[in-house]
Amino acid sequence: MSTIHDNIAKVRTRIREAAQASGRDPQAVQLLAVSKTKPAHALREAFACGQRDFGENYLQEALAKQAELADLDLVWHFIGPIQSNKTKPLAEHFAWVHSVDRLKIAERLSAQRPAHLAPLNICLQVNVSGEASKSGCNPDELPALAAAVAALPNLRLRGLMAIPEPTAEVAAQRAAFARLRQLQESLSLPLDTLSMGMSDDLEAAIAEGASWVRIGSALFGARDYPQKASESPAR
Ligand SMILES: *Cc1c(COP(=O)(O)O)cnc(C)c1O
Repeated sequence: MSTIHDNIAKVRTRIREAAQASGRDPQAVQLLAVSKTKPAHALREAFACGQRDFGENYLQEALAKQAELADLDLVWHFIGPIQSNKTKPLAEHFAWVHSVDRLKIAERLSAQRPAHLAPLNICLQVNVSGEASKSGCNPDELPALAAAVAALPNLRLRGLMAIPEPTAEVAAQRAAFARLRQLQESLSLPLDTLSMGMSDDLEAAIAEGASWVRIGSALFGARDYPQKASESPAR
């Protein structure tokens, strides 16, 4: 068995066990394979194991892989920081954007979404840890932002996303994910998505209601550069 094949099996088992431990249906938790910095052949290998949804952080890198993998029926998610002058290719080439944190970006995505495509699925990224350096909207700004984004025509607001401050303490992991869930519940909108949990904290995220877990290194191995997920520049 290849490493990726093996890793996918292990991550699927972790997801299933975490869901069962909190009395959730394992089918309600979807696996987003985060493939940033990984070559197209690694995604092809994951596809052969049944993986369809892939998350990328860097636009140019993602577009190059989409071209290389055009023969596969993949669902592309953008999960990285967004520059407002880069929204058009996002609107044209992705099914989901998890990292919208301001109205200007959402307005541009809606205006630039091609008419022949289904509405672009959107998660609003929220800063649940309160560190100045992190992206994501402030929780105070969320109700107004969510209402405005929900009203845009070519987008479908699905839910919230967060990248909490990393911590090894499960109680602290759960508190941050619970905060995102509670913020979602406090919005009176028909939302069905909580994008939360990565390789090191997916169990805590699933216990608090994650519907997408975004998993990179546990599937594809360590990345080749020491960037922090939340601080990667858009390119
Ligand atoms: C890189 C990244 C991930 C995956 O992180 P791992 O710890 O490798 O699983 C998830 N979400 C976002 C937004 C990322 O940038």
